[in-house]
Amino acid sequence: MTGRAGIVYLVGAGPGDPGLLTVRGRDLLATCDAIASDALANPAIVAEALRANPRAEVHDVGKRGGSSESASQESINALLVSLARAGKRVVRLKGGDPLVFGRGSEEAQALAAAGVAFELVPGVTAGVAAPAYAGIPVTHRGVATAVTFVTGHEDPSKPETQTDWAALARAGGTIVLYMGVKTLPRIAGALMAGGMPPDTPAAAVQWGTHARQRTVTATVATLADAVAREALSAPVITIIGDVVSLREEIAWFDRRPLFGRRVVVTRASAQAGGLRTALAELGADVLELPALRVEPLDPAALAGAVAALSSYKWLVLTSQNAVSLLWDALRAAGLDARSVSGIRLACVGKATSEALLARGLAADVVPDRFVAEAVLEKMRARYDVKGTRVLYVAAEGAREVLPDGLRALGATVDVVRAYRSVSDGAGADSLRAALEAGTVDAVTFASASAVAGFLEAVGPELARRAPAVSIGPITSDAVRAAGIALLAESAEASVAALARTTADALTAAAQRRV
Ligand code: SAH
Repeated sequence: MTGRAGIVYLVGAGPGDPGLLTVRGRDLLATCDAIASDALANPAIVAEALRANPRAEVHDVGKRGGSSESASQESINALLVSLARAGKRVVRLKGGDPLVFGRGSEEAQALAAAGVAFELVPGVTAGVAAPAYAGIPVTHRGVATAVTFVTGHEDPSKPETQTDWAALARAGGTIVLYMGVKTLPRIAGALMAGGMPPDTPAAAVQWGTHARQRTVTATVATLADAVAREALSAPVITIIGDVVSLREEIAWFDRRPLFGRRVVVTRASAQAGGLRTALAELGADVLELPALRVEPLDPAALAGAVAALSSYKWLVLTSQNAVSLLWDALRAAGLDARSVSGIRLACVGKATSEALLARGLAADVVPDRFVAEAVLEKMRARYDVKGTRVLYVAAEGAREVLPDGLRALGATVDVVRAYRSVSDGAGADSLRAALEAGTVDAVTFASASAVAGFLEAVGPELARRAPAVSIGPITSDAVRAAGIALLAESAEASVAALARTTADALTAAAQRRV
């Protein structure tokens, strides 16, 4: 322990769009010792913070309604106090602004009472941001000169008349309602009873500023029914007042060409960042292919194959991982490259052949397309495959195309499944779930190797659940060879053109459906 004094930063995470986090908030997240995050703070912000600050400990203290709320608020307070007393710099991340219906001030009271230092870092509140992303200003010259933020959440311990709805109805400005989905019919009734004209425009914005934002507009008299019909559920911001009419003129977010569309970016590289941004700017909900981790399987199988190495005439390797695991098995048996002399080497891609070369071995067969079919084609053209024994080192779940094809060529094939690719984190699960559920509109491929990576990450079956948009003809070949439907091919090999092609293709596909 350093003995330095701890501190708690009560930081507003903003309404959802990670770009709406403040610079102060991002700096603190990048340098703190611990993060205690709320249910409404976008998990992508915490994920990003951990990339910048991997040693930060994360406490997920998200709580959602329920009778144990006050108890859990106490335990959150106690956690913040104890982390700070241990000398830690703690970011308490809260959705929107920490002090707007966020109980941040209660946490500050607890910290003050415990003598713990704290700082309040405001955030962009949902009551301003969700309307803005729906094209609704909360004030507008000549339309609304005042705005009231009001909670629609009825605290059962308070008398029903805590909010003077009739006074709000008379006041005439914009009403922005937080937490009011269930109570909306009663609130609308109270406002109209207080003199608000029933045809006053009203809107409900669900998941404001998120890619999955949805907006319903109606009047104060009809909004509750419209919300129920459209099945909007929390988190929803409701806006009541004439400003809602401005949406017709200045809606922007949900008018973008890819708004409401889910698009996958398949490569975690510098280039993927550009593609992600280009697609997000066109309004897409972008899912990224998560990074893969290689998990070796039972080493005994590979050791057994290495012990019998001299009985093989061919060694077929599907990836750099296969090369490196085989090499490890050779070394573990006290062998090196010389033990592979006399054995022909085939690999599926260029990266694999380079991994071999780095160990002093030049591959005999390297296809120009990175798919199993292309290896087979090359081997079919040779006279030295028939009647030989082949060792095939592959990943768990790799397709049977190669071993089956080699057997059809008259070879005896031993398959060793040497590793499996595990994708880290919740990103992989949500990507698979989205493919499974059929909610992915397109998968973008910026290279043929990205096709291979996608196949490896989600498996060939799920990979075929969504159509592809490719950056050019070679990538398109790889897409087709993998059995994935090709929706469109970019005419120009650039990230911007790939994003544009995706937007055009999905718009055209939607028009065909209408
Ligand atoms: N401190 C937060 C509000 C917390 S109260 C803030 O300043 O934004 C929780 C309520 O906020 C939700 O019930 C919902 O009414 C609203 N809310 C928060 N994030 C939202 C979002 N992205 N879209 C719509 N409403 C949101």
